[in-house]
Amino acid sequence: MENLTAKELSEELCCKKQTANEKFSESDFESADAYAKDYAVFIDSAKTEREAVDYTVDMLSAYGFKPYTFGMPVYQGDRLYFVNRGKMLIAFTIGERGVDDGFRILAAHIDSPRLDLKPYPIYEDNGICYAKTHYYGGIKNYQWATIRLALHGVVTLRDGKKINVSIGEEEGDPVFCITDLLPHLAKEQKTKPLGTAFPGEGLNAVLCASPYTECGRPAEVDNAVKLNLLNELNRRYGITERDLVSSELCFVPAGRSCDVGLDRVLMGAYGHDDRVCAYSALTALLENLDGDNSVICVLADKEETGSDGTTGMQGRLMIDIIEEVSRSLASDPVAVRAKSKCLSTDVAAAFDPLYPEVYDKANSAMISCGVALEKYGGTLGKALTNDCPAEFFREVVDILDRAGVLWQNAEFGKIDAGGGGTVAKYISKYNIDTLDIGVPVLSMHAPFELISKYDLYSAYKAFSAFCKA
Ligand code: MN
Ligand code: MN
Repeated sequence: MENLTAKELSEELCCKKQTANEKFSESDFESADAYAKDYAVFIDSAKTEREAVDYTVDMLSAYGFKPYTFGMPVYQGDRLYFVNRGKMLIAFTIGERGVDDGFRILAAHIDSPRLDLKPYPIYEDNGICYAKTHYYGGIKNYQWATIRLALHGVVTLRDGKKINVSIGEEEGDPVFCITDLLPHLAKEQKTKPLGTAFPGEGLNAVLCASPYTECGRPAEVDNAVKLNLLNELNRRYGITERDLVSSELCFVPAGRSCDVGLDRVLMGAYGHDDRVCAYSALTALLENLDGDNSVICVLADKEETGSDGTTGMQGRLMIDIIEEVSRSLASDPVAVRAKSKCLSTDVAAAFDPLYPEVYDKANSAMISCGVALEKYGGTLGKALTNDCPAEFFREVVDILDRAGVLWQNAEFGKIDAGGGGTVAKYISKYNIDTLDIGVPVLSMHAPFELISKYDLYSAYKAFSAFCKA
């Protein structure tokens, strides 16, 4: 290094973030663009975890994947998937090397913040019929007022029958909406803190505003508007108010994803967190069929509410599958787990120049600087997180560097600003090396989130390289 000028020495010794514009080749830009178009189809079709599972099953089936059931013998070369209660999916392949070297695991989640309907949601007030909601995941309540909402979900009926509901996405469909106070009368509302101005109990969406009629006249019954709504639901779906108790219905932002900005580099959509990593993980798996390694792609539910329950990553399903498959291939399940390696593929908080005060810029993910690696997330003194060992972190960095992937380092934000978690800690507790990695997002958890197409493409390249390594 002695013969170097100060400028050359600085380039050798200092770490500087690269942008896609510095690193990408002409063909990278084209591929990133084409990849984003395919992703748009996925994100527009998969607005709930159930819809994401259905879409994924179709994709997997096209590649020859078959459903896995416990106890079934598994062979080298198999392509299998397990659907957990319609809300979580685990797809896996058995590579040339079997499973003695462990699995390469990509773990994303397919649930996103939204407004669930309460079990007894419908009420009428002054000629308007509303649905009461109970928000799911971390939202800023005010963002959900005065936007177009679509109704998605399922209603279960007797004899195992299930009705799929989707209103508000097709051309010409009606949408739903939570109203807000006009500014002229909001003098007092404007003095309230953000967290209290829009209470959760106030997030009620307009469903209907005209009464049920008999012989062209409003019916002379109590709650004729509610009756009109229930009659329409019954006409469309054959359901009654009683059936809503056993339903999973939610409001999500209506409409499709789109390019943002004149250069079309950013992409806006509902639910990038975390379907952007779900899609890139899934396509990485599909790109590595017939490879040496055995690969698992997990698309989990309930991450936004703590990964609890049968479909969340705190459940043992993935571990059960690893152990059952290992036994079937005459491998030691505990040894297979110990050799497995995981990327917890979840989005990162992108540095937002409009709110610089909550970020440590040098340790934040920047838009269009590639897929973001987070050694740890959590909160305060690194609580509630998987802190990836330096050795495994380096292993992943080397894999990405060898594959020419644009990547960057990230923390969630300033130490005392808040924090966030992923499924990483629920996987690493099974003695599986795990690293958080994902696409940086602006306006995370908002009804309309932004990502960079270059970061999306970098994530896909990263996950694919990991499957091969
Ligand atoms: Mn997430
Ligand atoms: Mn989230």
